[in-house]
Amino acid sequence: MPTPTPILVTGGAGFIGSHTVVELLGAGHAVVVLDNFANSKPSVLERMRRLAGRDFTFVEGDAHDAACLAALFQHHPITAVLHFAGLKAVGESTQVPLAYYQHNVAGTLNLLEAMRGAGCRNLVFSSSATVYGDPAQVPIREDFPRSAANPYGRSKTMVEDICRDLALSEPGWHIALLRYFNPVGAHPTGLLGEDPASIPNNLMPYLLKVAAGQHPFLEVFGQDYATPDGTGVRDYLHVVDLAQGHVAALNALPRLDGAVPINLGTGRGCSVLEMIQAMEKAVGRPIPWRFAPRRPGDIAIYYADPALAREILGWEASRDLETMCRDGWTWAQSEAAGA
Ligand code: NAD
Ligand code: UDP
Repeated sequence: MPTPTPILVTGGAGFIGSHTVVELLGAGHAVVVLDNFANSKPSVLERMRRLAGRDFTFVEGDAHDAACLAALFQHHPITAVLHFAGLKAVGESTQVPLAYYQHNVAGTLNLLEAMRGAGCRNLVFSSSATVYGDPAQVPIREDFPRSAANPYGRSKTMVEDICRDLALSEPGWHIALLRYFNPVGAHPTGLLGEDPASIPNNLMPYLLKVAAGQHPFLEVFGQDYATPDGTGVRDYLHVVDLAQGHVAALNALPRLDGAVPINLGTGRGCSVLEMIQAMEKAVGRPIPWRFAPRRPGDIAIYYADPALAREILGWEASRDLETMCRDGWTWAQSEAAGA
């Protein structure tokens, strides 16, 4: 069998990237991972190799550095790029917006230049459902207007526009702009998961810390939203489903005409209280929580219309909330045990 040409995965040591690399290797792809460990640890690489039962090339470096990228494209005949590397904290982006535009926008420009220089025109970009801002209705379709409400979301919107302009300017570009909803959970083995460097702001990682006794209680932000139980509703998506969505997107690239936005979500909304209940079931005991005021900037209800992903990628999420909580809890326990 001929050796497959390598796929470059920037940020491949991170939460979503690490799960995706395992799925790519499992699907027979050759992979080059580029990561600077800004938000991950070197120890994850060995776990990825163990899970995949196969090796990959690792390059430690900055995915937004032109010289590093030029050298990488020179040494490896890369045919496609999955671009995960970037900064991702909404709150932080309002404190240091220039860092977000520098990394996420200017950095991605360097990557696109390097790809263009090397004749590589296949890209899967990690966008976000946050580009929709506060939608007029749900489920959210890809043709809804975008109105991101913070620098992080606007950095994703800008990169989407740059990709679209680039694809319009010359033929041959195939770009999937994947708009993720809320990725949660972990690899079922407990070997990979989300490893936030600081205190997590997101619901699932915080809930896991409370369940593990590292925080006394969860604050439920808001109880009077126009949702069935008054708490915020989101479209939580198992990270392994999301990783498999990337393999489907990579396979679909030749069929994509230009830069195409695609939602990756389950299409099902879940409230904060439902998530607490599901996690209590996974953990086997009550998790302390109390109501707190609404979090500024929060949106009441947010979930995807996943029809386009089904149609174009032949992909849909298959793991339910119970599985997301069980796998998240397995990961939290193995972390606590120092596995
Ligand atoms: P993560 O922080 O776990 O992973 C990002 C990885 O990129 C880390 O390993 C980090 O070390 C690396 N990295 C960061 N900057 C780099 C650079 N300049 N050069 C090389 N490596 C670099 O984040 P994640 O949750 O896996 O998210 C991946 C992508 O998906 C991000 O672009 C994020 O904006 C997007 N996204 C994430 C979510 C989410 O909830 N996790 C939702 C929507 C979109
Ligand atoms: N949330 C909460 N307590 C927390 C963290 C989050 O009640 O400690 C709520 C939040 O208000 C929202 C939902 O959980 O309704 C999901 O929040 P998350 O930050 O995970 O995702 P995002 O709001 O960015 O989609």
